Amino acid sequence: MNNSDNIYNLAVSGVQKLVPYVPGKPIEELERELGLSNIIKLASNENPLGPGKKALAAIQEILPDLALYPDGNGFDLKSALAKKYAVDINQITLGNGSNEILELVARAFLTPEHEVVFSQHAFAVYPLVTLAVGATAVVAPALNYGHDLDAMLQRVTAKTRLVFIANPNNPTGTLLSHSSLEEFIKALPTTCVCVLDEAYCEYVADQNTENSISWLKKYPNLLITRTFSKAYGLAGLRVGYGLSSPQLADILNRVRQPFNNNMLALAAATAALTDSEHIQDTIAVNAQGMQFITEGFKKLGLEWLPSAGNFVLVDLKKPALPVYDALLRKGVIVRPVGVYDLPNHLRITIGTMTENELFLQALTDVIQAP
Ligand SMILES: *Cc1c(COP(=O)(O)O)cnc(C)c1O
Repeated sequence: MNNSDNIYNLAVSGVQKLVPYVPGKPIEELERELGLSNIIKLASNENPLGPGKKALAAIQEILPDLALYPDGNGFDLKSALAKKYAVDINQITLGNGSNEILELVARAFLTPEHEVVFSQHAFAVYPLVTLAVGATAVVAPALNYGHDLDAMLQRVTAKTRLVFIANPNNPTGTLLSHSSLEEFIKALPTTCVCVLDEAYCEYVADQNTENSISWLKKYPNLLITRTFSKAYGLAGLRVGYGLSSPQLADILNRVRQPFNNNMLALAAATAALTDSEHIQDTIAVNAQGMQFITEGFKKLGLEWLPSAGNFVLVDLKKPALPVYDALLRKGVIVRPVGVYDLPNHLRITIGTMTENELFLQALTDVIQAP
């Protein structure tokens, strides 16, 4: 082949159209580009407190075993999750981040004949996993920036094999009520798998009053995904999980790699589950920071979307990229959300109080600059 571009024509048609995920800018990259130090990153919804002590200790302890393969069934972590959420071990699928669970469900259930319904402004990985397997994405318009469950249901047809819902949603932080969600799941045809992405559930204030896990008994087509990347502070290790009926879990486990979670990740996640103090501290720092940052927006006359997560979307009412760039020059990395159809907004992860103060000062300087 002379023209090396021809190789693109050989790829699955969905992959030809696929625009790769753009992660938040890494601190090291900005350091290299601008020669800055003391950079703060509030761009990827990571835990500003870092990993918990118990997770770190577990990693230290397991280091001498690294020559061995990890437990491909993740028995200890699954047992701990099963106990915590009162589910059976065979209802759990472990993933290399919950991102992998999203990919597994797409690979296991979709063909180019199938459609996938998700919302406008929903998490960017849903179109990626859909296109990668050649299926068709059907995007329902949002309602007040959040999921419009009626509009989504209207788009479900006999071809729809998957529906993705993030609750709370990233990047908007919007939260659906449990009653409206259950109505939606109940109304879905049984030929359609519902993925309920709960990456931020630990931050939701009413999480203990009603629990989506109880729906698993009723809906064999429900898959709940959760992660250790956000509130648990272990994004760098890549651990997430799916909770579902045993049958759905069996299907996902068939397509995953045999050792998809590494040994450090398994050990740290298992220990992290017992570290309720770290989760409590995390939630407290987030609540305080959310209050502080949104008050700062108010003083600046900026509007924002009330958020149930550890991030907040601010509406600049003008193209956000110049503001994003100006913040970068001051050593503050936030997240532009143009790919989410939100060109005038920026997403800010709630940081430590010091980070929040630095961010607000930088934003004030940028916005009030002549
Ligand atoms: C961060 C995030 C995830 C996945 O994170 P992992 O690190 O792969 O577990 C999934 N869904 C949403 C909505 C997220 O914001």
